[in-house]
Amino acid sequence: MKVYNTLTRKKEELIPLKEGEIKMYSCGPTVYNYFHIGNARPFIMFDLLRRYLEYRGYKVKFVQNFTDIDDKVIKKANDENTTYNEIAERYIKEYFTDAEGLKIKKADVHPRASENIDEIIDIVKTLVDKGYAYEAGGDVYFRTRAFKEYGKLSHQNLDELEAGARVDVREHKEDPMDFALWKAAKPGEPFWHSPWGDGRPGWHIECSAMARKYLGETIDIHSGGVDLCFPHHENEIAQSECANGKPFAHYWLHNAFLNIDNQKMSKSLGNFFTVRDAAEAYGYDAIRFFMVSAHYRTPLNYSKESLEQAQAALARINAALSNLRFLSEKGAEGEMRPAEKTSFEGFGKYRDSFCEAMDDDLNSADAVAVIFELIREVNTLCAEKDVTKVYAEEALKMVTELCSVLSIGETETDDIGNDIKQLIEKRQQARKEKNYAEADRIRDELKARGIVLEDTPQGVKAHRVK
Ligand code: AMP
Ligand code: ZN
Repeated sequence: MKVYNTLTRKKEELIPLKEGEIKMYSCGPTVYNYFHIGNARPFIMFDLLRRYLEYRGYKVKFVQNFTDIDDKVIKKANDENTTYNEIAERYIKEYFTDAEGLKIKKADVHPRASENIDEIIDIVKTLVDKGYAYEAGGDVYFRTRAFKEYGKLSHQNLDELEAGARVDVREHKEDPMDFALWKAAKPGEPFWHSPWGDGRPGWHIECSAMARKYLGETIDIHSGGVDLCFPHHENEIAQSECANGKPFAHYWLHNAFLNIDNQKMSKSLGNFFTVRDAAEAYGYDAIRFFMVSAHYRTPLNYSKESLEQAQAALARINAALSNLRFLSEKGAEGEMRPAEKTSFEGFGKYRDSFCEAMDDDLNSADAVAVIFELIREVNTLCAEKDVTKVYAEEALKMVTELCSVLSIGETETDDIGNDIKQLIEKRQQARKEKNYAEADRIRDELKARGIVLEDTPQGVKAHRVK
């Protein structure tokens, strides 16, 4: 597989540190609010990368942090007259509700900054001892000039950066480009004891400390939104490489922005929709489909139309899956017909094209297109009334396999629940007994529950419409 590495600005072959294993760290949310559709992009797309690597047989260890100590969390806590911990707990719970809806798998570890203070102090101490950091007025700063490679990720030069840097008179820095590793306690803020007095960690250091603790000094993949490239990831590299004396991450992957009216969706601009609200309007599945159907490095515009398109496309996939499930039970007995056999023997080429797209820097847009080609072919053969059970079963397996890698479409075998199946049978019985009023009543009840019935040569077929 090739991935675009921000560090080298090239698509490179992904070669793991240890054969067959991938260590991956992704920057997670700051937990002071519901997360928005923009935040959902890295969460979904790097979940997709992880799932695809697993599909290709890699053992992936995936870590995604929660930033629970931060100005915004503290402000929210003070506004609500509660603790930062209470705010973090609340929004971590909400994160998992939305993540589950979006079919984002839980990370192997979801560490929190507040639970890793010892590790954070430890790495800051190392940096101070090695001369890469200094204490000033109870704060500790990273001495940016001491790291010769500073700027290598965002391809910027320290002198140019410095020329544009803003000097804040309240800070005790030696140099405007230095950044805080540890911040002295301020009234009304949570604090921990440290060799430099009471205080709390800066933001960048938590990722260096937690990546090292849970994945080791050098990892394979580090990812996040493109806005994190500078300064956050640049600073993570400086901290980790100076503390450990080793490369930090081999591959740096950044997703492009999710925009609204061609402007970055962000909490600070106020132009955001939470995943919770968008899911209310369009469903979680449509949001995931919308993200997955675009390449992660292409800017993506959020609009009512694009979400409605995603819903419609997803409905086509779900209709195909539901039809195949139905035909796997009700199709003709016996061996595949010649046209089915040819189609079945060609399924492998869809899998190959799917993987070829995904191997090319996770081109999920093309991978989705491959699924639609496969569905088109399968639908054509399934439209014939003598379609066989065995063909439908094989086609179902193939479509399910590819959809499962992307986690799109209703791939569970039992999407029409048992109580619904019983209602369908009751309706059939009522019809047999010519009790049409009862049959119609049941049909309406099913409709109210989002199930419509269709009479086909193979019998009654149920579709879920919402
Ligand atoms: P935050 O909670 O702000 O630290 O962001 C969590 C993740 O969402 C980071 O990886 C950000 O880079 C990413 N992110 C924030 N806004 C957007 C956006 N509009 N489009 C894509 N990614 C974003
Ligand atoms: Zn980070």
